Amino acid sequence: MNALFHQDTIVAPLASGSRGNCTYIGDGRRGVLVDCGISTKQVLARLDAIGLGDSQIDAVLLTHEHTDHVASCRVLDKRLFAQQGRRVPFYTTAGTMLGMDERCRPKKLLEIHSGTPFPVAAGWIVEPYTIPHDTRDPVAYTVELGGIRVGVVTDLGRSTRLVEQHFSSLDVAVLEFNHDVQMLMEGEYPWRLKQRVRGSHGHISNEQASELVQRAASPRLKHLVLAHLSQDNNTLKLSVEAAERGVDGSQATDVSVWVADQREPLGPLRIRSPKTFRAVAPKCASPREPDRPTEPPNLDQQSLF
Ligand SMILES: [Zn+2]
Ligand SMILES: [Zn+2]
Repeated sequence: MNALFHQDTIVAPLASGSRGNCTYIGDGRRGVLVDCGISTKQVLARLDAIGLGDSQIDAVLLTHEHTDHVASCRVLDKRLFAQQGRRVPFYTTAGTMLGMDERCRPKKLLEIHSGTPFPVAAGWIVEPYTIPHDTRDPVAYTVELGGIRVGVVTDLGRSTRLVEQHFSSLDVAVLEFNHDVQMLMEGEYPWRLKQRVRGSHGHISNEQASELVQRAASPRLKHLVLAHLSQDNNTLKLSVEAAERGVDGSQATDVSVWVADQREPLGPLRIRSPKTFRAVAPKCASPREPDRPTEPPNLDQQSLF
């Protein structure tokens, strides 16, 4: 591709939480999905409901094998094939491929490597990077399109230097604000589950996420979307207050705070590209289709909640 154009970048978390995750990132004409843990029917209905029903889906990026992130991959694959007459690529790490339930597996599953950026169809660059979570090889993604950088960072037990490096480069951040520690510890969960959620490979709390924002948000951050809120151990009020504390203490000066929901889509958020730009074929590795994994899928990996 070698054309001049100017497009808004559009970000729409279609669903977020323990019962399914899916986020659209694109320009309205085409886009990628990060994760597909809600039903295909819901993915398509929610895209339609917010005016993105005509957007072509060029790729699906999978973060890890928990069912709330991959449950409908196979069905979505079939549906996109019927729509587009071609196999839409799903991308993920070798570890996630091994961990995925065979029943969720799409036909065209391409292997990516943490730390190795790759292009998707429209020439947008996707940067996967490692996050600490209790699965085989989980990643978060930064997607760059039209000069805008969008990050989806959920399902991590703690922040890391790498997470904060990426976060500081973002214009739009979808960041996990999972639980309030006091609510979790005083709540009904069994002790072992509380320990898993709080652990360094579980989920980050409001306070941890707030501190991450405070340390890493740069002046370019314009939208902060709170994601993967626990239904049992968090409230809208507590999460937003924590986010605002983080923003207030950060270098960011003009940030809109949003909360992604389990039951309905958010947005779409529209971000104007900084300038008209020329899309060129990027110089980075192309993921390859791997040999079928020989190890059986690990069916023990369940979503934390
Ligand atoms: Zn999850
Ligand atoms: Zn998870």
